[in-house]
Amino acid sequence: MYQAFLLKYAEIGIKGKNRYKFENALCEQIRYRLEKIEGDFEVIREQGRIFVEAKGEFDFDDAIEAMSRVFGVSSISPVEMIEDKEWGNLTKAVGDFVERQYGGQKFTFKVKSRRSDKHYPYTSPEICVEMGSYLLERFPELSVDVHNPEVLIWVEVREKAYVYSKVYQGACGMPLGTNGKAMLLLSGGIDSPVAGYMIAKRGVFIDAVYFHAPPYTSERAKQKVVDLAKLVSRYAGKIRLHVVNFTDIQMYIYEQCPHEELTIIMRRYMMRIAETLAKENDCLGLITGESIGQVASQTMQSLAATNDVCELPVYRPLIGFDKQEIVDISEKIGTYETSIQPYEDCCTIFVAKHPVTKPNIKVIRRSEEKLTEKIDQMVQEALDTVEVIEIAE
Ligand code: ATP
Ligand code: MG
Repeated sequence: MYQAFLLKYAEIGIKGKNRYKFENALCEQIRYRLEKIEGDFEVIREQGRIFVEAKGEFDFDDAIEAMSRVFGVSSISPVEMIEDKEWGNLTKAVGDFVERQYGGQKFTFKVKSRRSDKHYPYTSPEICVEMGSYLLERFPELSVDVHNPEVLIWVEVREKAYVYSKVYQGACGMPLGTNGKAMLLLSGGIDSPVAGYMIAKRGVFIDAVYFHAPPYTSERAKQKVVDLAKLVSRYAGKIRLHVVNFTDIQMYIYEQCPHEELTIIMRRYMMRIAETLAKENDCLGLITGESIGQVASQTMQSLAATNDVCELPVYRPLIGFDKQEIVDISEKIGTYETSIQPYEDCCTIFVAKHPVTKPNIKVIRRSEEKLTEKIDQMVQEALDTVEVIEIAE
């Protein structure tokens, strides 16, 4: 029955002169998501609102679901368009809408209205009051509750008029592409996909890097990361996933350095390589799924030691989150089930029984000197053999 949707956005409304850039980016993202849905859609920008009109047949649930994954959209409402907005016709059309949607039901309601056609003979408050009394007269079983209505009936008068009452939650945040790009260190765990989602939500495009250690980590472990990247891309858009072969570097550190420092040193090399890839790909920062104290490599001292090798800012959106809070988000965005599949992670293979939890940066740097002979060449080799996988929803 619905042929159009009204999309509201919150945060981008306050961007002053740059607002049109945000609105354009938002429309582009809505179009991108709807391309994958059965149906033909037109996305129209109009005075602080976005309308999506479906031409002909389309899949309603799929369209709502796709739009609910676009960052920058705060809500989605299926609307009925009323071509002839002359008052007598408008009241009747709104009444017919209520009849179709709620026929025979008893509930409290309130009319809310917005009028951008300033020549319309009724002001917004007048539309609310007059429409309210029309509906009360036509549907005596209804009553008005201005404070806590069960149903809000929205009437918007623009070029055309629109009526709607259903509101679906949007993804909120900022439109992708309005805040540059960052490189996500994506492992097969629970945390890093959530971290990527959270930064993307602020309008940042994402590239990703995965450190793979064959034959210690299997093809299946790599496929799991590809699957996770696909799930993240349902929100974050296209992702270029860089797969780095980390085996030789990991083995070399294992041979040369104290085993209790292995994880920290390995993580420092991951960060170095990720940063090089980030710079080559116009990324303005790195993203990890770290959270203070979660494991030995995420104490304040360990984070400082990892951070020590980076010039670019490292964004750690989960830094203050408890595990359960992270799990909740991963369930919400649909990555949890994939994350908990039991495939080995390259970090877990060589972990020491008692890793240092308070690494001293000077000590770590000195241990890394034992790698001087071959490490630069190995890092270069790893960079030269990166496999790039283009990920899309
Ligand atoms: P996750 O659930 O994201 O794997 P974790 O709790 O297992 O996190 P660590 O293994 O210490 O924590 O990793 C911390 C962060 O380092 C991860 O969130 C991720 O950003 C990055 N990371 C770890 N291993 C890899 C890997 N093999 N490839 C790419 N990034 C990695
Ligand atoms: Mg991990």
